[in-house]
Amino acid sequence: MTEKLQQFKEALHEIADYLAVFALLEWDQQVNMPPAGAEGRSQVMSRIAEQAHNLSVSAETIRLLEEAEKAVAGIDPDSDDARLVKVSRKQLDRELKVPAAWVSDFAMTTATAHNVWEEAKANNDFSIFRPHLEKIVDMRKQYADFFKPYDHVYDPLLHFFEQGLQTKDVVEIFAALRPKQVELIKWISEQPQIKDDFLHGRFPEKDQWDFGVEVIKDFGYDWNRGRLDKAVHPFSTGFNLGDIRITTRVYENLATSSMFSCMHEAGHGLYTMGADPALDRTPLTFNYSMVLHESQSRLWENLVGRSKPFWKHYYPKFRSQFPTQLGNVDLAIFYKAVNKVEPSFIRVEADEATYNLHVMLRFEIELALIENRLQVKDLPDYWNAKFKEYFGITPPDNARGVLQDVHWSSGYIGYFPTYAIGNVVSVQLWESIRKDIPNLDEQIEKAEFKPLLGWLVEKVHRHGAKFECQELVQRVTGSKIDPQPYLQYIETKYTEIYGA
Ligand code: ZN
Repeated sequence: MTEKLQQFKEALHEIADYLAVFALLEWDQQVNMPPAGAEGRSQVMSRIAEQAHNLSVSAETIRLLEEAEKAVAGIDPDSDDARLVKVSRKQLDRELKVPAAWVSDFAMTTATAHNVWEEAKANNDFSIFRPHLEKIVDMRKQYADFFKPYDHVYDPLLHFFEQGLQTKDVVEIFAALRPKQVELIKWISEQPQIKDDFLHGRFPEKDQWDFGVEVIKDFGYDWNRGRLDKAVHPFSTGFNLGDIRITTRVYENLATSSMFSCMHEAGHGLYTMGADPALDRTPLTFNYSMVLHESQSRLWENLVGRSKPFWKHYYPKFRSQFPTQLGNVDLAIFYKAVNKVEPSFIRVEADEATYNLHVMLRFEIELALIENRLQVKDLPDYWNAKFKEYFGITPPDNARGVLQDVHWSSGYIGYFPTYAIGNVVSVQLWESIRKDIPNLDEQIEKAEFKPLLGWLVEKVHRHGAKFECQELVQRVTGSKIDPQPYLQYIETKYTEIYGA
């Protein structure tokens, strides 16, 4: 490697170290920090965010990037070095459009809003969160303005999380998913309904926790490089490839909620843990496609964790852990219960048939906010009306409605589509995995996840953020992002569950 390239990498390491500090402060804020620490913390986070930004756009970084571009000219464009330089250039061009003052103000605003959101949700009080969300929405509109001209005002927001897609792509994918999913849900609602009352008994926190830990250990989550903590809203984060953390929450009256959230977050963690160590502390382990990230979390949560082979292995253990609650429930009944389809209020608890509709609802609302068709003050009523339109039920309170998700308090407007498209991609990958590992079901039945994880590491994880979502999906599956396999998958799965 040339000296110029090495110098550029050292500059990237320095920026990555600031981002790691920011992520650690954020993790601590959501896991450990006492409420009164919020104000001081938001000041520190805003300062660190500004420093990271200033370093990223400094004359020295730009000079080093230009030198690095000369150094990689002519080398294999898919090599780590060439991709690192390419991704860094895109990142720099984006950051140059955003003033440092905005970055600092936004970090301060969102760090403050997070704790207010927690309080608002706990007390079911939208009014205290409202001014914070108003500022966040205004700032996101300003952010979009920095990127004029754009095809769509939502594009810059989407690109913050997913550079490989345009708003029109999201609209197109959702237009393909929605009618088929609505049709399937309607058909299901006309079938005999599944009983799942036994999942709502009392399941002690410690037992749920231990079970989640055991499952994700079997998946291959590396406890030497990771840890699991409690948070109001489950999330995953990482500071370097040796320290990748996940969180969950436990409801004692919901038997499987914490377990599925453990699997989901471990899916994110495994993705990051699988990156080639040579990419550590660079944009190739920070600038991920969130569609690809969610494809990994949803793959472990659903395609593995809500599958029949999985429960063939784990249900006897799970049942023996909760003999009074589940003693009379056999595997077939339990499997159906964890796949029960019904309109429900909470996205993260939703089944695979309705889940994407929760995302579409949020996407529609975000578009209305950003296109100035909706004001934050009208949001709770708008949410409830839209919810009724989508699901036929009205949330009983804002905690189970507009306040349920952490994302907007963190400034994450533009993120939600990545969940639904992540679902789509997860099934496309799954089809490729099945071709390469024909006895996948038998392996899952024996809790043998090494071949599956090995496949994912080889095809997806080790590349870090080298490829955007469309490119990676094309390379691995031979086709672009396509909603049809997902639709086929849910149709087959639920026809079997509800038709039998
Ligand atoms: Zn996720």
